[in-house]
Amino acid sequence: MTEPSSAGQHVEVPDHWFEPVERCWCGGRSNDASAFSSEYRSCQRCGTHFASKRLKQEYVASFYSYDGYWHRRQSDKSHPTLWDRQELLERDGRVDRWMEAIHRHLPLGKLGTAVEAGCAEATLLQRLRRDGWTTVGIEPDANTAAAVRERTGLDIRAGAFPDTPAPRCDLFIACDVLEHVTDPRRFLYAAREALVSDGLLFLQLPLIGGEDEGFGSITEKVFDWQEHAFIYTRESIRLLLESCEYSVVENDSGWVRAHEFVVARRWNRPARSRRHLANLPEMFSDEWTTFIDTLNDFAAPLGLRQFNNWSKLWEYPSVWRQGLSETRWQGCRVLDLGSEQSPFPWWLATQGAAVTLVERSANWVDQWTAVRDALGRPSVDWRIVDSSRLPFDDDTFDVVTSFSVIEHQDDKALAASEVARVLKPGGLFGISFDICEPELGMTFPEWNGRALTRREFERLFWNNTRFRTDDAIDWNMEDVPAFLNWHKRTAAHHNYVTGAAVLAKRRAGFWARMRKALTL
Ligand SMILES: [Zn+2]
Repeated sequence: MTEPSSAGQHVEVPDHWFEPVERCWCGGRSNDASAFSSEYRSCQRCGTHFASKRLKQEYVASFYSYDGYWHRRQSDKSHPTLWDRQELLERDGRVDRWMEAIHRHLPLGKLGTAVEAGCAEATLLQRLRRDGWTTVGIEPDANTAAAVRERTGLDIRAGAFPDTPAPRCDLFIACDVLEHVTDPRRFLYAAREALVSDGLLFLQLPLIGGEDEGFGSITEKVFDWQEHAFIYTRESIRLLLESCEYSVVENDSGWVRAHEFVVARRWNRPARSRRHLANLPEMFSDEWTTFIDTLNDFAAPLGLRQFNNWSKLWEYPSVWRQGLSETRWQGCRVLDLGSEQSPFPWWLATQGAAVTLVERSANWVDQWTAVRDALGRPSVDWRIVDSSRLPFDDDTFDVVTSFSVIEHQDDKALAASEVARVLKPGGLFGISFDICEPELGMTFPEWNGRALTRREFERLFWNNTRFRTDDAIDWNMEDVPAFLNWHKRTAAHHNYVTGAAVLAKRRAGFWARMRKALTL
């Protein structure tokens, strides 16, 4: 064990250990300064405050060193150093508070394996071991891990989780750790992998409660950008956990301010090949974020709509993933219904598609003309229509897209049959739609039209004999509560959910072809 050098000696952390970031954990990009610190930005998408520079992964162990971090840096901040922590934590009662919070969610007498990532001096693990738990600690720096192992006799593994993996466990603990973690989704998914199916996650971290509520006199300490990559809100920590397939069972307790507790359970979400209802794990996944980035980067210089919040974050990538990604766009005839300022049909045009936009008003025609010129006049034209009846011949288009349009169409059956009519046999219909189930307490504002129920979608589209579907639609209802909770926060009237599907127009059968031949 190395002896710490004299306390109070200021720690210099080199600039090259950090890299600039413009992105929150949720994929949101923001230049909005945080109200609490000029070193942080505030994410419009999820509300988290994130440091605009982040510690590079390869310097994690160097930064959280035995000497520099656990002794000199703690002294600099007037915090207890590594070996002073245990006495303090036991004396002020917080170990008891931790145990109470954990036991509120475990069956009486439950024992098993507990893992603590970023265990420091391992006070909590020592308590758990005394109670009969099998314990494993993980701490980034090898010297610190060795020192704690020597002092406590516990199984302490060196390295940063999840590069240093956790064994299978019943309880995964991270106290004052998640705010330091630069890739929290990777961290939480790895912890989820380690947890048994009803396993419990216990976090302690600083949480912002309301919009303007900081941490009082310790706000500056909490917003220490070198250490804390993210300062979550009570809502954004829930969003993060739900998007990583946890269900939150407690997030309104704590020890003292800035040491809030969050307890979550591994959410055993059924595996599905495709999810027709919007859900947080897909919406915040790298794949969905990358697709939305592509559209936003394309839209920005053209003044088209960018998607930063709201359910479009899920809808476009979902329709893409459910069937459009396989399309060869070169020469493909695409009809986009209700185009407004959507970048999507324009982006398809730059992939080689011949695109027709449809709108009810001529509001956007000047902008469309300018966008077409800016893009070097790709094959894009438009029609202004005044009903669901489409001014095109039968069997004209290879692909029809309709994003959140069906709720605004009065005659939904006519809208469905018109899409089927103008599609070529075998052509694809990509649709996103709002779903409102009054029986489940959902509401849809009258001024916004009328959303479908699941049964109506099935009757109008999925089971429509003009479209070919192999099976009964399998609705991922397990995703509804978390999505709905998020959706309501994006706007008070969003008390409904969103769906998406890609359908293929049935190819004409023998008799249909024969009838057609005979009528010629
Ligand atoms: Zn965010």
